[in-house]
Amino acid sequence: MAEFSLSLNDDQVTLRDWVHEFAEKVIRPAGEEWDEREETPWPILEEAAKAGIYSWEFLAQLAADPTGLSMPIVNEELFWGDAGIGLSIMGTGLAVSAISGQGTPEQIMTWVPECYGTPGDLRLGAFCVTEPNAGSDVSSLRTHATRDGDDWIINGTKVFITNGGIANVHVVVASVDSTLGARGHSSFIVAPGTPGLSMGKKERKHGIRASHTAEVVFDDVRVPSSCVMGGVERLDERLARARSGQRTGKQAAMSTFEATRPVVAAQAIGIARAAFEFALDYAKDRQQFKKAIIENQSIAFTLADMRTDIDAARLLVWRAAWMAANQVPFTAAEGSMSKLKAGETAVRVTERAVQILGGYGYIRDFPVERWVRDAKIYTIFEGTSEIQRLVIARALSGLHVE
Ligand SMILES: Cc1cc2nc3c(=O)[nH]c(=O)nc-3n(C[C@H](O)[C@H](O)[C@H](O)COP(=O)(O)OP(=O)(O)OC[C@H]3O[C@@H](n4cnc5c(N)ncnc54)[C@H](O)[C@@H]3O)c2cc1C
Repeated sequence: MAEFSLSLNDDQVTLRDWVHEFAEKVIRPAGEEWDEREETPWPILEEAAKAGIYSWEFLAQLAADPTGLSMPIVNEELFWGDAGIGLSIMGTGLAVSAISGQGTPEQIMTWVPECYGTPGDLRLGAFCVTEPNAGSDVSSLRTHATRDGDDWIINGTKVFITNGGIANVHVVVASVDSTLGARGHSSFIVAPGTPGLSMGKKERKHGIRASHTAEVVFDDVRVPSSCVMGGVERLDERLARARSGQRTGKQAAMSTFEATRPVVAAQAIGIARAAFEFALDYAKDRQQFKKAIIENQSIAFTLADMRTDIDAARLLVWRAAWMAANQVPFTAAEGSMSKLKAGETAVRVTERAVQILGGYGYIRDFPVERWVRDAKIYTIFEGTSEIQRLVIARALSGLHVE
């Protein structure tokens, strides 16, 4: 087990500084343009791929850090640059996390590189769970997969999917036995160009607008057995256990989300830190009543609270990331705690940054206006704040709190 330490080792410091430089020189200057365009920032993804940041090898390197800290450190820096672009770079990671967490070795070897492509021939991945009537309540999803000889046929509609319809690899969670509820779910890998998969409505969003979000329609999508996540044998065993009333372990979608929560939380911290730093500089510079506004205790105390919240959130994220990397069970839902605290912190800190900038925080000439919009998603996706509280409350009490 790696020791938990708050002082980063030399490799982690080098990694952080290198990603920060990329965020500062490439991502931050492009943030406003791609927010306005509301399109996937392909040229920036290309730069990230050339630098080695948008690649499966990089993700594998981060995942291999025994302390678990490389992943949140990198995410915080990228999202400090810009959250919409950051999510365009990291959004593929959700599908990759599902494949590497639940796939067979062959599926990992085949599909993870396919999610990224190579510089000059970039690919994307998408992880499709949410449906119009199954958001927080994943157990009630209606997309289903029916066995047809050696193939499976998938039908249903997914909504709010990051990279949905433009991804090359779609991982979709579907019901294979509706009588079993969530225990009858399985994930499927849908290869590029599979007939029947199409993009529905592309969403126009409040924030993270450079990240593509769309509906994905599965209309008689036929996939071979080799695309059943984890293999058919394992699925059949799991279904047999569920039918006989035995425990079957975690839902496919839930285990992916649990693993990614501290990472998503680190993204929220990146946005909060960007807003805090900007507001601090502004408050030192802005003169009203013949003095810098930071000389007013109410502004200085607000900044003190902002920084305290950010540091507290980061500590929770690093703890959860270390626990996950070292297989320490989340007995008090520590992953959810980190996501809850970081998401709420990002919303509060960015909102306070707008207040510190006054009218200049409310207009598009200053990035704080964008950051407050970007932050809000962090109390909604990957489990809303209410769902995180539910998960924590259940873990603490051992009761099925409703
Ligand atoms: C930009 C964006 C990107 C996304 N990317 C993806 C993606 O890549 N893949 C994917 O599968 N999904 C994705 N989502 C979907 C996201 O995960 C869902 O929006 C989220 O889980 C909430 O579901 P919902 O929107 O249906 O809200 P609902 O579940 O309808 O919730 C509405 C409100 O009710 C509250 N609520 C619900 N149940 C309870 C309860 N039991 N107790 C207390 N409060 C409750 C919620 O907290 C919330 O405040 C994305 C969403 C957005 C907006």
